[in-house]
Amino acid sequence: EPVLSLDAVEKCYNRGLPGEVSVLRGASLSVAPGEVVALVAPSGAGKSTLLHIAGLLDTPDSGAVRIAGADMTGQSDRRRTAARRADIGFVYQFHHLLPEFTALENILLPQLAAGTPRAAAEARAMDLLTRVGIAPRAGHRPAALSGGEQQRVAFCRALANRPRLLLADEPTGNLDPGTSDTVFGALMELVRETGLAALIATHNLDLAARMDRTLHLETGRLV
Ligand code: ADP
Ligand code: ADP
Repeated sequence: EPVLSLDAVEKCYNRGLPGEVSVLRGASLSVAPGEVVALVAPSGAGKSTLLHIAGLLDTPDSGAVRIAGADMTGQSDRRRTAARRADIGFVYQFHHLLPEFTALENILLPQLAAGTPRAAAEARAMDLLTRVGIAPRAGHRPAALSGGEQQRVAFCRALANRPRLLLADEPTGNLDPGTSDTVFGALMELVRETGLAALIATHNLDLAARMDRTLHLETGRLV
């Protein structure tokens, strides 16, 4: 059973108004457990819209969004938020770490919010930091970390609560090419080890080639 599936999703902004723009026009995809799928789209093609809908942050005008088989279409905001927190991890181009907290604390916070006991949360955070090779940086605040290190911490935070699905929007887009390559390698290892499904938007075709499959978003559909 797919972790994520979108079926004939339509999304239009400003319907019936002068600025009407039909962004998704029957977009369908599915991502299986353990599968890493690249999402490649020209700027303005609707990549963010698609990721927001897949991440239950926005709703389609029509079509279905299923997370682990459960149809999220028409669910209440409360149910959608609960599903998002339980099942989905997000990574963005910019790390969005909380500046006043250390790397370790940034990875602890979502776990404590989810009710994980502190000792277990710390063990989980240190395990993740070790896997991405930056355990010695656990006590540093984001400002004391390099861009690549900051982004590794963001990956650890996204995976802290063991989501089934990772959604990433240009996760290495603000890094120089060499760093991007290494940091992407660390992300792929984490994803492979945890067996979660991932949908990763990128403009970088070399990175896309390292994933299992590439979907191109063109004129509102996935090919
Ligand atoms: P991408 O992430 O591929 O650059 P987006 O999903 O952000 O694309 O946007 C796709 C199109 O929809 C663009 O033309 C954008 O201007 C438009 N758009 C995005 N969000 C809104 C919104 N909230 N209201 C109106 N138009 C929007
Ligand atoms: P919490 O309130 O526990 O921080 P939310 O359920 O609000 O978490 O959000 C879950 C994830 O979705 C977080 O990683 C957050 O960064 C992301 N998120 C929430 N709202 C938005 C938004 N409007 N745009 C992009 N990402 C968002």
